[in-house]
Amino acid sequence: MISNKKSEDTLQSPVQFLKAVLGPLPAEETLADYERWWECEGRALSMAQDRAGTPWLQMFDLLGKRIDAVQCAPGYWTMLRKGYREGLVWRAIKENSLITPFQLGYVCAFNDPGLYCPYTVSLATLLALSKYGDEATKSRYVPMLLREDESVWQGATWMTEAGSGSDLGGHVETVARLKGGRWLLTGEKYFTSNAIAELGVVAARPEGAPTGVRGLALFLTPKRRDDGELNFCIRRIKDKIATRSVFTGEIELRDSEAHLLGKPEWGIYLILEVLNCSRVANAMASVALAQRAIADAFSFARHRVAFGKPIIEHPLLRQQFEERKATLKTALALAWECVKVFNEIWRETPPYSEKFHLFRILVHLAKYWTAEFAVQTAKWCMEVHGGIGTLAEFGVERWLREAMILAVWEGPAHRQILDGLEAMERKGAHQLLFEHIASGAEPKELKEMRAHVEAHLVLPTEAKEAGAETLFQALAPFTARALFRKRSDVPRPRDSR
Ligand SMILES: Cc1cc2nc3c(=O)[nH]c(=O)nc-3n(C[C@H](O)[C@H](O)[C@H](O)COP(=O)(O)OP(=O)(O)OC[C@H]3O[C@@H](n4cnc5c(N)ncnc54)[C@H](O)[C@@H]3O)c2cc1C
Repeated sequence: MISNKKSEDTLQSPVQFLKAVLGPLPAEETLADYERWWECEGRALSMAQDRAGTPWLQMFDLLGKRIDAVQCAPGYWTMLRKGYREGLVWRAIKENSLITPFQLGYVCAFNDPGLYCPYTVSLATLLALSKYGDEATKSRYVPMLLREDESVWQGATWMTEAGSGSDLGGHVETVARLKGGRWLLTGEKYFTSNAIAELGVVAARPEGAPTGVRGLALFLTPKRRDDGELNFCIRRIKDKIATRSVFTGEIELRDSEAHLLGKPEWGIYLILEVLNCSRVANAMASVALAQRAIADAFSFARHRVAFGKPIIEHPLLRQQFEERKATLKTALALAWECVKVFNEIWRETPPYSEKFHLFRILVHLAKYWTAEFAVQTAKWCMEVHGGIGTLAEFGVERWLREAMILAVWEGPAHRQILDGLEAMERKGAHQLLFEHIASGAEPKELKEMRAHVEAHLVLPTEAKEAGAETLFQALAPFTARALFRKRSDVPRPRDSR
């Protein structure tokens, strides 16, 4: 009973839960301070931001000059700056480690999954720039992203366009022209999260480059030109169901000045690196959201009385709660493995190592499965609250709205599944995965899963694609359980051969 009580208290705290699953946290005090700030101040600001809805885009100043500034309650800026100060971005470079930034991100997402987006896309911008920018571009912009005070610059990652975000090769129409030694971009980006950022990394096709994804390149595009004028325009801010703590807009690029990142022919690799950084954060955010939903459901269920006792004491509900809690731990083990491996490989450039391909399969499994888990758990949390769960005034419905976006952006389920399939077919990523998780897996189950994957990979193309989700639905939780056992030294079930 005591240990149950302890594990239920742990559920209410993102820091305690991280510690319970991952072991000692290098920056525990910083994380605990950030968590306390959320409880005392941040949660109210976040709720106000969610309820205020779409902020107002002020396109012109008093004298009719285009400024494209977003007007919203001052509380938003307090909440946003707090995370930058704590080190969701600067610590990555100054501490030469992604561990604390992603743990801070978990604390942030437990309270506001949408707010984690600006930090994530700023981090992705910083990593891409510090790896692939030329010396002049780096020395000009990296320090801006590393500032620890209110003057910090933000980044953003704008790849997709209106046609089909899943099919970048077929639908990126933004063109890059080289004129007088300077790149100029022209096009429209339909979904641009953190539209207020001072720097965006933008996918575009250099004039004359081949069609398809191979012809795309990646550029860094500052909000202001060298002469101080706006370099691109925000057409509008989108009215979304959730993630209202990040402003998602539409951007118009018209001969916008840009800096090429890396070699043009590496473009698609760079784009995927940037997306994969966000996918790791998305997996952490999905687990954090699921934790929050389970914690909220539990708090309610131990006070709500039906049939003479708190509803949590009814065996059916208790069982659902215990199962979700157990899955939550394995989901964190999977998301965290992505962070750990990402921390080891993020400096690599093409051609990549085997570890990089292991990272790819981990990320696709984690992005896919944790987002689905978050959606299902948020829905369950609403149901546990009964009719009250559907009322905006209690805020529980928000977790489902937020989770629905986590499942779509950075590529919906099918994108993760098909890209994961490709990593297995072309790079043997499943073999690397099985080696990596072997010490946590039950040998017979591992053998069976290996056979299942190998049988799937030799299916005719159409059947292979059609059945791929079923494969992922088995492989992701299997991987998560093995990683959890490996990490926590939970004894493996005895080999039943
Ligand atoms: C709030 C929000 C913020 C965003 N911010 C950004 C941003 O900052 N930067 C950015 O670049 N993008 C951003 N996006 C775009 C996001 O990445 C895309 O919405 C996403 O990748 C899906 O693309 P799409 O909306 O064009 O859908 P589509 O690609 O048209 O897909 C529609 C449906 O078809 C399915 N589908 C497509 N192809 C296949 C296939 N081969 N097999 C099976 N099913 C398939 C998809 O899974 C989906 O269910 C944002 C999106 C949202 C919702």
